[in-house]
Amino acid sequence: MLKAKTALITGASRGIGRAIALELARQGADCALLYAGNHAAAEQTAEQIAQLGVRVRAWQCDVCDFNACADTVRQVLAHFGAIDILVNNAGITIDRLLVQMSEADFDRVLDTNLKGAFHMTRHVGMHFIRRRAGRIINITSVAGIMGNAGQANYSAAKAGMIGLTKATAREMAARGITCNAIAPGFIATDMTDALPERAKEAALGAIPLKRMGAPEDVAHLAAFLAGDGAAYITGTVIRVDGGLCM
Ligand code: NDP
Repeated sequence: MLKAKTALITGASRGIGRAIALELARQGADCALLYAGNHAAAEQTAEQIAQLGVRVRAWQCDVCDFNACADTVRQVLAHFGAIDILVNNAGITIDRLLVQMSEADFDRVLDTNLKGAFHMTRHVGMHFIRRRAGRIINITSVAGIMGNAGQANYSAAKAGMIGLTKATAREMAARGITCNAIAPGFIATDMTDALPERAKEAALGAIPLKRMGAPEDVAHLAAFLAGDGAAYITGTVIRVDGGLCM
């Protein structure tokens, strides 16, 4: 159970981040929801979480912006008093063949997926170190493990997150902080909904469990990693992919 804990979840308005926030709230955690611009979705998620009887508030915060992240972390701490769990989930894709990819498309995906996780870990990490406690959960991807054609930017960002996870785990272990990564496979959200039909069929054909994952499949693992049962687990990358990348 996560009663009396506070979780900060980036990209919590929709998809996997939303499911993680709901599951952490079901287990009793208060939730700080960060999102990029979709106010309506963030408010809807916040309302659903409030019905679970925990404290919740949403903040618009572009994770690409180092100073905006610092400011939002300050506001979250002022509101909740503490943060116990950080989930770096915010992410985007801009898919193109590498030889057709613009520098801006490469940078944007790196800035959101990889630097965003650094920014949040940098600012929340100081608080965790002072408290000598904290759980960091980074949402990477199987694309970061095995690469994906058409996703050089995304695969590089997600592979970078795995390095970030392991370095963070090593640096912060002595302070009682754990850092782990979850690598989802093909999960039904707005992100995968946008894929062309033939890309979806190809992905499904490659999954041994023969179905797309649900956001809740990822959320259950995130809640486990945030809980007492995962106290001795750090620096790992755990796939939630129906066997896609074994
Ligand atoms: P969605 O597109 O459904 O949701 C993305 C979320 O990230 C939204 O809450 C969005 O906010 C937020 N976001 C995007 N850019 C920023 C930003 N610059 N600053 C703050 N928040 C931002 O994505 P998914 O739920 O599918 O993906 C969540 C994570 O899981 C991502 O990191 C993704 O790479 C990873 N993943 C997803 C897989 C899948 O199959 N779906 C597979 C493997 C990994 P807003 O609503 O305001 O736009």
